[in-house]
Amino acid sequence: MNARPSRSSPSSPAAPVAAPTPASPAATPDNVPAPRLSVVIPVYDEQAVLEALFARLYPALDALAISYEIVFVDDGSRDRSAQLLAEQFRRRPDVTRVVLFASNFGQHRAILAGFEYARGERIVTLDADLQNPPEEIGRLLAQMDAGHDYVGTIRRLREDRWWRRWASRAINRLRERTTRIRMTDQGCMMRAYSREIVDAINRCEELYTFVPALAWQFARDPVEIDVGHEERFAGQSKYSAYRLMRLNFDLMTAFSIVPLQMFSIAGMLLSALSALLVVVLAARRLFLGPEEGGLFTLFAIEFLLMGIALFGIGLLGEYVGRIYQEVRRRPRYLVSAVLQDLEAAAARQAR
Ligand code: UDP
Ligand code: MG
Repeated sequence: MNARPSRSSPSSPAAPVAAPTPASPAATPDNVPAPRLSVVIPVYDEQAVLEALFARLYPALDALAISYEIVFVDDGSRDRSAQLLAEQFRRRPDVTRVVLFASNFGQHRAILAGFEYARGERIVTLDADLQNPPEEIGRLLAQMDAGHDYVGTIRRLREDRWWRRWASRAINRLRERTTRIRMTDQGCMMRAYSREIVDAINRCEELYTFVPALAWQFARDPVEIDVGHEERFAGQSKYSAYRLMRLNFDLMTAFSIVPLQMFSIAGMLLSALSALLVVVLAARRLFLGPEEGGLFTLFAIEFLLMGIALFGIGLLGEYVGRIYQEVRRRPRYLVSAVLQDLEAAAARQAR
């Protein structure tokens, strides 16, 4: 076992030794040559799909004939996922590394942890559920060979529930307007990043983020390609409508303050209109004398304004809440153990 000290695991907790004790000189992440490719996969309660994933992912990567490593990040799974990952690590210690979280911190933090541990020259992220075929990784790498440092993907034929498709189209459009981040398909996590981009991401300290958007901001020459999309192989989506909404709030607030500015502008326009209304009412009072009626119209206007004001306060709360959580500077995640065998990795690369 080789727990790399990082700011995210301040007290490097004692962890079970999973790999053979390294013979001297100790292999460290720094003196083992970096593989060409790291594949980072967040795993949360995926026991139903992991075996199928292993069966397709490893042959697909072996077929590329380049040095690679797979960094699985177990996001505090409550099922047998961690055991399955440990078993797979014992089967292929030369190319498998497993980071085990102490509890569930969410997909994007799991990917960020994977980035910190990944050593490859290029990094590909992938979901565990086989919705994106691992056989297509080669096509992403071909784009990088062509000089692009960020390869995004668009789901060719999306196999998801209709409301997910509809909601994500609407959100995509809204996000593009407010954040100026041009991602055709923000939900597709199969993406490739250069080492420079991942290094830049590793220097970011924010708790709430959306990895593809963050990477897009650092990219010099991004490109998007179509990839296949299948139905989830087994198990269930980990995103309920509520979690999906939270995730999109993260995306919107982390990359834009346009929503806040929209409220200032709306506030200004409404005050101008109200001032006009006051002038009109005052004039009517002077020239027509006292009048009543239109009570319900008044209610309608009142409720509309109240609704807008409440929404504005809620929106402020979203930002203030995040500021509060960021200033506490708690660790993003806690790693309970890392399974890796750098000796085996080095031996494989020396072959
Ligand atoms: N995931 C995670 N932590 C979470 C939720 C999800 O690591 O809290 C992982 C999950 O195991 C999967 C990926 O993120 O590998 C995408 O999740 P899912 O397929 O459920 O999302 P969907 O495809 O429905 O958007
Ligand atoms: Mg999925």
